[in-house]
Amino acid sequence: MENDTTTTKNIWNFKETEKLVSASNLTVRSVLDKLTSCLDTADTRSVIPLGHGDPSVFPCFRTTPIAEDAIIDAVRSAKFNCYSPTVGIFPARRAVAEYLSQDLPYKLSPDDIYLTSGCVQAIEVLLSALARPNANILLPTPGFPFYEARAAFTQIEMRHFNLLPEKDWEVDLNEVEFLADENTVAMVIINPGNPCGNVYTDQHLKKVAETARKLGILVISDEVYAHLTFGSKPFVPMGVFGSITPVITLGSISKKWVVPGWRLGWLVTNDPNGILKEHGVIDSIIGYLNISSDPATFIQGAIPQILEKTKDDFFSKIVDMLREYADICYDKIKDIPCITCPSKPQGSMFVMVQLNLNLLEDIEDDLDFCAKLAKEESLIILPGVVVGLKNWLRITFACEPSYLEDGFQRLNSFYKRHAKKQ
Ligand SMILES: *Cc1c(COP(=O)(O)O)cnc(C)c1O
Repeated sequence: MENDTTTTKNIWNFKETEKLVSASNLTVRSVLDKLTSCLDTADTRSVIPLGHGDPSVFPCFRTTPIAEDAIIDAVRSAKFNCYSPTVGIFPARRAVAEYLSQDLPYKLSPDDIYLTSGCVQAIEVLLSALARPNANILLPTPGFPFYEARAAFTQIEMRHFNLLPEKDWEVDLNEVEFLADENTVAMVIINPGNPCGNVYTDQHLKKVAETARKLGILVISDEVYAHLTFGSKPFVPMGVFGSITPVITLGSISKKWVVPGWRLGWLVTNDPNGILKEHGVIDSIIGYLNISSDPATFIQGAIPQILEKTKDDFFSKIVDMLREYADICYDKIKDIPCITCPSKPQGSMFVMVQLNLNLLEDIEDDLDFCAKLAKEESLIILPGVVVGLKNWLRITFACEPSYLEDGFQRLNSFYKRHAKKQ
């Protein structure tokens, strides 16, 4: 055991709790809270939040009235004041099955759908259902730190494989093969990607499936940004390859409908060969759902209307905005010498840029950079260390464009003030 310094006798049995605390301290939310506490209250300018992925605060990202009406109708109907079955109410499961089946070569059944309180609860449920002594899971670097925190709390060993910036952040599949052993239960991909803004081609996804098949593991595909793509590559759901290896897809309405506060997500089994059922994974998922809380019933009640009635023009407006703002962001990055972007984002709401500390005078690392940036410029950006890449930054472009312009101007003056003198 690392750090085992039991020289003084400890009568308490709370061993290892410290590790858990540190896992939950490096989540996006906790670090953004810390950066917010660095803000200078004497600065009268407004704070520019390019750190998190919740554009719902900006008027241009307001959700569609169709979704708002669906919630009101669900409440007024008085049909959804009851407890929900632990797997979710049938009409909502059926609606999600039909919605997701549009992109698949086979049809999902309502029984393949489990409704959760947002995508994060789907992650919690799945990692808890997969946990067993000695199990390990393969996670991407950079990634979404909630997986790390959840794995730590459920005591699943994590092994990290790299995403390759020079290959548009594709999975290093050689490394995946190298890391896996007979105790590996699953690998995680996030597509479209957070934090990289990558979108995977169907050829790459097929290779991921074939590698997983060879290793005898499940692919967990986080598709919370499904269809939020604005480059040349279309979104392809991993479930397309569910007959090669079992796939569990995680998603929600949080990002696509810009309503993260509504807390409605799903866990979906894409497993036409029934491998997950045969090996008890389904029973384990249902078992865990039986002892967890459910998404509010009236939100579930609104789901059929939300999924079936939202018009395409709502999504195309969101995607057009994201494309435009990603372009602005990508251009502005080129004007600031100390950051470089290896791969232009094609989906989600984020871009990763590398920080060149050699060009800066008094900046220790990415955390120090972001803390000083918050203090001096009232600009919040996420340090890369939070998503697994030290001395990188994750920038969100899903915000009001005037904020982006202003944010990059402040970033530029920050750079000039801290640049090494030649
Ligand atoms: C935002 C996000 C989630 C969480 O989604 P919710 O539906 O709000 O719980 C999960 N995974 C990734 C990659 C995300 O960016």
